[in-house]
Amino acid sequence: MVHSSEKTIVTRFAPSPTGYLHVGGLRTALYSYLCAKKHGGTFLLRIEDTDRERFVADGVKNILDSLYWAGIVPDQGVCLDNEEHIVQRGDHGPYIQSERLPIYKKYADELIAKGVAYYCFCTRERLDAVRKEKQDAGLVPKYDRHCLTLSKEEIDANLASGTTHVVRLKIPDEGMTTFFDDIRGEISYPNKDLDDQVLMKSDGFPTYHMAVVVDDHEMQVTHVIRGEEWISSTPKHIILYKAFGWDIPNHAHLPLLLNADRSKLSKRQGDVAVLDYTKKSYLPEAMNNFVAFLGWNPGTEQELFALDELVRNFSLEKVSKSGAFFNVEKLDWYNREYLKLKSDNEVARALLEYVPEVCAVPGFSNDMFEKIVPAIRERIAKYTDLAEMIANNDIQFFFAPPVYEKDLLIPKKSTPEITKQHLETLVSMLQPVTTWNKDSIKDAVWDYATEKGRGEVLWPMRVALSGLEKSPDPFSIADIVGKEETISRITYALSTLSI
Ligand code: GLU
Repeated sequence: MVHSSEKTIVTRFAPSPTGYLHVGGLRTALYSYLCAKKHGGTFLLRIEDTDRERFVADGVKNILDSLYWAGIVPDQGVCLDNEEHIVQRGDHGPYIQSERLPIYKKYADELIAKGVAYYCFCTRERLDAVRKEKQDAGLVPKYDRHCLTLSKEEIDANLASGTTHVVRLKIPDEGMTTFFDDIRGEISYPNKDLDDQVLMKSDGFPTYHMAVVVDDHEMQVTHVIRGEEWISSTPKHIILYKAFGWDIPNHAHLPLLLNADRSKLSKRQGDVAVLDYTKKSYLPEAMNNFVAFLGWNPGTEQELFALDELVRNFSLEKVSKSGAFFNVEKLDWYNREYLKLKSDNEVARALLEYVPEVCAVPGFSNDMFEKIVPAIRERIAKYTDLAEMIANNDIQFFFAPPVYEKDLLIPKKSTPEITKQHLETLVSMLQPVTTWNKDSIKDAVWDYATEKGRGEVLWPMRVALSGLEKSPDPFSIADIVGKEETISRITYALSTLSI
């Protein structure tokens, strides 16, 4: 944070509403938010909708829903009100670019008047031909500045007759354009490699480059934080700032997000929309923590950072230049950690909300469900995993007596007779237990199981209760299903062995 430190920090997130918010976008928004909050500054949201072909009707709402879900709430710009309607707040609006067309026009006229921008009346066919010619000659396929030398009369005549035109920036012929990136240090581009960028399109809309510079200036943005893919655009922006005579904000370009095979994170390899993760019931605190670590680390062993801790600890200086691997297992790890902080009650409510089909499990009751939550919550990374447990027949036995092959009751090296004997003894030892809980159940049978072999005794007890090869331990299940049901299930197991 170099030259803007004396000003109030203003950061912005400036997505284009072309679909859902990408996890990379969430990271840009989060880092921008953290930088602003850390310094008591302002975080604003601007919608960059100048590319009308890629516009998606619900795009703005989708982006806002994802940001609010994550707790990344803008102070200014495009926001949601209490009824979740899209509103705009702040003194430098409008904050939706398609509502700012006269502003861009005014500044484009200013650049033309200064001689640093010019009208271009070239047709698409001519531009294509020029590009091809340059490419064939192995040159940078830049515009050939045909319209730069038009006379005032020619320009006026073209304008008067309504000839389709754009406005282009006149890039300096020589020299370098240099800027300082807060993550990467000094970056320079030779001006001769830069094209005379279109600033205003023929439909009266600005290009991204024109709009982003005008808006960042008008909205008093001090720190431009965005993805690495925008680095090559920045020299054009710097030239524009200089042409206007405006202060240049700090810039920071965040590292790419990568798949495990080092390719750029893409839909083909998994979910990339934040909404996919919210639907899968990941917790916002886990998502933020995970996303924060995609390119940043605090330089200590600490891994868990709630949003307010991120605000305190985050700094752009600790963001790395190299690509960050997107690893969903790590997200699952964070989610498990944050789930541990939730009460059983909260977990139960969320499970019912995300997996309502659990209510259709035969024998389901709310009472029983509340009892099983403490036993199953450790086995899930996220709430929706419960659906998988149901599909795998992993929890049905809690609600209704299990159905199983009687052979499963008999441990590998044992016999039906011995197993039957153990189960009979278990019943006789469990009958007198008056205070029924995990410890008292264990106390009642533990010595016997130890003496006879724990596998020999506890395996059939567990199978009698769950009907499964793998399940929680028999004491937990017995505790949950209750004394009567425990004895009834063991008695049933005995009856199958007697046949
Ligand atoms: N509208 C651009 C995007 O969609 C914003 C780039 C920037 O932050 O300057 O990513």
